[in-house]
Amino acid sequence: MHNITLVKGDGIGPEISDAVLKIIETAGVKINWDIQTAGADVIAQEGVPLPERVLESVKRNKIALKSPVTTPIGKGFRSVNVQLRKELDLFSNLRPCYNLPNVKTRYDNVDIVVVRENTEDLYAGIERQIDENTAESIKRITRSASERIAKFAFDYAVKNNRKFVTVVTKANICKLSDGLFLDSARKVAQNYDIPLKEILVDNCCMQLVQNPNQFDVLLLPNLYGDIVSDLCAGLIGGLGVAQGANIGTDYAVFEPVHGSAPDIAGQNKANPTAMLMSAIEMLNYIGENDAAARIKSALFRTLEDNIKTADLGGNASCSGFTDAIISRLV
Ligand code: ATP
Repeated sequence: MHNITLVKGDGIGPEISDAVLKIIETAGVKINWDIQTAGADVIAQEGVPLPERVLESVKRNKIALKSPVTTPIGKGFRSVNVQLRKELDLFSNLRPCYNLPNVKTRYDNVDIVVVRENTEDLYAGIERQIDENTAESIKRITRSASERIAKFAFDYAVKNNRKFVTVVTKANICKLSDGLFLDSARKVAQNYDIPLKEILVDNCCMQLVQNPNQFDVLLLPNLYGDIVSDLCAGLIGGLGVAQGANIGTDYAVFEPVHGSAPDIAGQNKANPTAMLMSAIEMLNYIGENDAAARIKSALFRTLEDNIKTADLGGNASCSGFTDAIISRLV
């Protein structure tokens, strides 16, 4: 029996969480779920969007599966997602992007792994209002965090037989901050046989949409990592299928790349694939490889049978798609 925290989130969070839980339960994996709520809805009772009990739960269980929590735009509380990653020192954000069967995309054979630094850069939230018409955000980059994420990217590349790592920066403009990130990657690369390539983020975006097959592992600071992750999600069928994991030294939190999608929340339209793919990686992480493989195969066969949610051009509901996966589980 595994003890795992489930952060249910808001927006489409509860729907896709319920879908994934049902699939994992049917696959026969014994998990004692410690279900935690977070976000705008808990502020009324507990005063904060990320109560201490959520952090304590993840610290106790070491592993969490998390669905998205809405981040208010331009005002309101800081991102719960970002706060969780910082508080638990989940320094690496790992987002493998590859084509799924029968999901129509512009390119075949996309196989890119985005490794995004998760704790600093503009996400440190160091901002100030100088006067009514002027605001500043500090882009904070440290050598220790940059070397640690570079090492993670190279270790991942070695372990997963990847051919090279490309570090993505804007070091020609942000000479000090991105320069430090780049320099750290170069230093770390000296300890590995895998080559390091370098590219500027603007060129990287253009190259990705022109020929994504030229990339392997991408190593990025936090903000570029966020943006390029969504671009890569677009290459493989959109946010509904893009998985992710936040991994630190002590804890790991698995969550889809997408946000809470308030535009479709509560309508039984959400695609649970991104959350399910994240959960499959979680199952592999805890050693439930057989169940992970069976669930993945059921998901792939569902897509091959042309059962798809609206974001992929189909007409299955979230629950209909979930039931179709369950009926293919062996
Ligand atoms: P955040 O900044 O919190 O990551 P976001 O701005 O990236 O959020 P999302 O909430 O991810 O925005 O939604 C972006 C678009 O993608 C919306 O139109 C949403 O409906 C769609 N979308 C996101 N996730 C899914 C999903 N699982 N299934 C179907 N559509 C989705």
